[in-house]
Amino acid sequence: MTVAVDAVEAFRKQYGAEPAGLWAAPGRVNLIGEHTDYNEGFVLPFALPQRTVAAVSPAPAGEWTVCSTFTDEAVSFGRTEPGEVTGWAAYVAGIVWALADAGHEVPGARIALASEVPLGSGLSSSAALESAVLTALIDMGGLDVPLDRRPAIAQRAENVYVGAPTGILDQSASIRCEEGKALFLDCRSYEVEQIPFDLAAEGLAILVINSNAPHQHVDGEYGARRKSCEEAAAILGVRALRDVTVDELDEALSRLDDDVMRRRVRHIVTEDQRVLDTVALLRAGRVREIGAVLTAGHASMRDDFEITVAQVDVAVEAAIAAGALGARMTGGGFGGCVLALIEAGSAATTTQAVEKAYAERGFTAPTCWTVTAGPGATAITR
Ligand code: ADP
Ligand code: MG
Repeated sequence: MTVAVDAVEAFRKQYGAEPAGLWAAPGRVNLIGEHTDYNEGFVLPFALPQRTVAAVSPAPAGEWTVCSTFTDEAVSFGRTEPGEVTGWAAYVAGIVWALADAGHEVPGARIALASEVPLGSGLSSSAALESAVLTALIDMGGLDVPLDRRPAIAQRAENVYVGAPTGILDQSASIRCEEGKALFLDCRSYEVEQIPFDLAAEGLAILVINSNAPHQHVDGEYGARRKSCEEAAAILGVRALRDVTVDELDEALSRLDDDVMRRRVRHIVTEDQRVLDTVALLRAGRVREIGAVLTAGHASMRDDFEITVAQVDVAVEAAIAAGALGARMTGGGFGGCVLALIEAGSAATTTQAVEKAYAERGFTAPTCWTVTAGPGATAITR
C-alpha cells in the first residue's frame, strides 16, 4: 500500500523517528440516498478502496502535531476550542476537541497523514482523515468509544470545529463500512445493516467518473437545501421529511404552496424510497435491477433537488448511452463524481464514451476508475 509508505516517510521526515502505528480510513461513495441524511432518512454508502493513512506516535499529554503529504506545513496545538486551529489542521484539532468534549482523555500524538482519496472531489477525504485520526487516538489511548458512537464524534468535529454543516453519512461510511458490503444506515436511529454488495460475482462493476468540475457555491446551496427541507417539515408538522412516506407524498405536496419547496420534498421522499428499493433488490440478489433505481435518483437530483451541473449530467447520459445499467451523481452535488453500474468488461468503452462527450463540449477531461467495496477504518500494518 503505497499510501502507507508515504505516511511513514512523511512521519520520518517530520519527526526523525518511526511511527508507533498506522491507521487507515477510506473515502466513500454513496450508492443511493442523497441529502436524506439530514432529513433523518436512509443512505447506502460503501467504502472506497482508496484510503487516508495516519502514521502516529505518542506525544506528551496535551500536545499534538500534525503534518501531511498534501502540504509542507506542520501544525502544533494544545487543548483548543473551535476556531483556534484553522485550515486543514482544523480537521485534526476538531477530532481531538470532539473526543475530549465527549469526556475522553485524549492522548497527545504526533501524526503524519497521506491520502489516496482525492481531496475535494466529493469522495469524502475529510471524513477519511477524521476517521483515521479518530481511530488512531481511540486505539492509542485505549479509549472506550463503541463503534456506533464514533461517527457522531467525527461529525461534531466537522460541524462545530471545522464549521462545515454536513450530515452523518460520510463519517458513518468511513468508520462502519465492511469489505464487500454496502452500509444501510438509518440516519435517525443510527442503526446499520451490512448489505451484500459483491458486483464481481454478478459480472458487474462500478465505474467512478470524477467530473473534475470546479465546485461552486457548495456551502450556500447546501445550506439552502437544508433550510428548505426543515421549513417543509415544519409546515407539514413532522419532525423530519423522513416521516413522510411515498404513499403520503401527494397529500403532503398539496399542503405546500411553494413549487420549489414541493420539488425539494419530492426528491427527499422518493429518494428515501429508492434507498429502500435498492436494499430490497440487493437482499434479493437482483443486483442488475438497481441500475434503473440509480438513474431515477439522478433525474430527481437534476430536476427536483437541482444539485447537478452540466458535467455530471453529461457523464450520466454518456455512460447510459454506452450501455451502463444505470448511473447517478454521488455526493452532495454541484460537481463531484458520478457512479455508473456497468458490465465488468466495459470500463474502457464507458470511459471513452464519457471522455468523448466531455471533449465535444470543451469540458476538462474526467477521471474514471472502477471500485469495489473496501473495509472501514482500522489499524493496519506496513
Ligand atoms: P471531500 O471531503 O469531498 O474530499 P472536503 O472539502 O469536505 O472535500 O474536504 C477536503 C479538505 O479536507 C481539504 O481541503 C483539506 O483541508 C482536508 N484534507 C483532506 N485530506 C487531507 C489530507 N490527507 N491532508 C491534509 N488535509 C486533508
Ligand atoms: Mg468532505
